[in-house]
Amino acid sequence: MFRPHPFSWVPAEGQRHATTDAKPRYGYHGTRVRTLCSRSVFVEDSDIAWLWPTCPGCNEGAHDLADVPMIGSGAPGLLELE
Ligand SMILES: [Zn+2]
Repeated sequence: MFRPHPFSWVPAEGQRHATTDAKPRYGYHGTRVRTLCSRSVFVEDSDIAWLWPTCPGCNEGAHDLADVPMIGSGAPGLLELE
């Protein structure tokens, strides 16, 4: 499967985290992953989970991995930090 960047966004514990763990066949929900902010979180499966705020630590890590500056990011799905 094509992945533009070597990580995926996962909703967990009230925030959107990013992980470099390989995606399971049926998706991340219900699994525990290691996040870019160095935490181990249980991925939730919720319609509103994608509205949760982006984890600042993962946002920073994702920008690093994508080689995109934090300011004026045009990366898809990333929210600017307030
Ligand atoms: Zn995080």
